[in-house]
Amino acid sequence: MRRIAIVGAGQAGLQLGIGLLAQGYHVTLTTNRTGEQVRSGKVMSSQCMFNNALQTERDLGLNFWEEQCPAVEGIGLSVPNPERPGEKLIDWSARLDRYAQAVDQRLKMPAWMDEFERRGGELIIQDVGLPELEQLTQSHDLTLLAAGKGEVVNLFARDTERTVFQQPQRALALTYVKGMTPKSPYSRVAFNLIPGVGEYFVFPALTLNGPCEIMVFEGVPGGPMDCWQDVTSPEQHLQRSLEIVQRYAPWEAERCRNLELTDAGGVLAGRFTPMVRKPVLRLPSGRTVFGMADALVVNDPITGQGSNNAAKCSKVYLDAILAQGSAAFTPEWMQQTFERYWDYAGQVVKWTNSLLTPPPPHILELLGAAGQSQAIAAQIANAFDDPRRFAPWWFDAAQCQDFIQGHMSRAA
Ligand SMILES: Cc1cc2nc3c(=O)[nH]c(=O)nc-3n(C[C@H](O)[C@H](O)[C@H](O)COP(=O)(O)OP(=O)(O)OC[C@H]3O[C@@H](n4cnc5c(N)ncnc54)[C@H](O)[C@@H]3O)c2cc1C
Repeated sequence: MRRIAIVGAGQAGLQLGIGLLAQGYHVTLTTNRTGEQVRSGKVMSSQCMFNNALQTERDLGLNFWEEQCPAVEGIGLSVPNPERPGEKLIDWSARLDRYAQAVDQRLKMPAWMDEFERRGGELIIQDVGLPELEQLTQSHDLTLLAAGKGEVVNLFARDTERTVFQQPQRALALTYVKGMTPKSPYSRVAFNLIPGVGEYFVFPALTLNGPCEIMVFEGVPGGPMDCWQDVTSPEQHLQRSLEIVQRYAPWEAERCRNLELTDAGGVLAGRFTPMVRKPVLRLPSGRTVFGMADALVVNDPITGQGSNNAAKCSKVYLDAILAQGSAAFTPEWMQQTFERYWDYAGQVVKWTNSLLTPPPPHILELLGAAGQSQAIAAQIANAFDDPRRFAPWWFDAAQCQDFIQGHMSRAA
């Protein structure tokens, strides 16, 4: 029986581990927090996942919350009118062909850890560094590092060609709340793009104590939405969230009259640099470790793609491990497997990064045109499920013009 070691019990590590167990592999999963510590800790993400990624979970029988979790049925965008405070310059929404869902990772990961053990996996609670990686690589045929944003991932070299930014592009905050008035006629990710300030988006989700809404704040560093440093309590964090919404997206404030936090752990503030790392780590012994998901490709959450990427990465890696049969997992195989994932993830990175810098004129025109053409709005909304669909029209001004005109003339 082939022995696989995985470090990190997040979306990527657990999904791959459970996938491998189903194929008869011996899997050791080492992670640095118990399920109970994860469950009683702070929120980590807004983890909205679209249909293709959700399907990879369904395929493994891991969609435990599909019935209870509120469906995210669409995506909408609003941009305030700079000349008329309180009014919108752009305002549209479109239904997703298939719903998205966000299950609090504090709920999901502990349950998946239990499931991993129930299905025969070996779960070890340990903080992994170089010595532990040396041990794991000695006793396993393949060692994968799926440690997300953990310090240990810095052992992988930065890919300077594929990394675009040298510092964080947004000050991030999450606020999990109850009591928000639902969007009608369908639920959605309500994006609010406030030029020069940042982005605020909000959508329904499932948390530890039932359905909730997750408010996500993406403040331009040094700007007025980069405002969490002096916040010292969850109550103050909620208050600050409400102030931002009232000031920059007042139409959303109407939904927030009766808000309360889901729980004291339902808040987060922080920042990190979007980055791509080289996939293979060579240890002092000469043995190698293969990275995956956020450990190698970490995006700003502005496009809500990280968990989706992690799920898709686990699927690419699972298929590649199975295809390898009893052959050795060489550094060349690792590089090739990562490149297969990068064929997809590279497009997500390109699109996500494009939203972190001020939009070029053709994107402003496109977002405005979506307000006139439901077909354009639907194309944008549904491309979140597979951001490769944004090419070429998102990136190229001439292609974008053709795309807009094609839809406009068809509508006329
Ligand atoms: C504010 C915010 C909002 C987000 N919103 C979304 C969204 O709406 N949609 C979306 O798709 N994605 C979103 N993401 C991103 C998403 O949460 C991540 O991309 C995803 O969780 C990555 O999965 P992963 O398995 O690679 O890593 P993680 O889920 O981070 O898992 C890493 C695991 O490794 C463990 N670990 C770390 N270091 C060590 C160590 N030294 N030894 C042992 N174990 C270790 C950790 O405890 C954890 O179990 C968001 C992220 C943030 C920060």
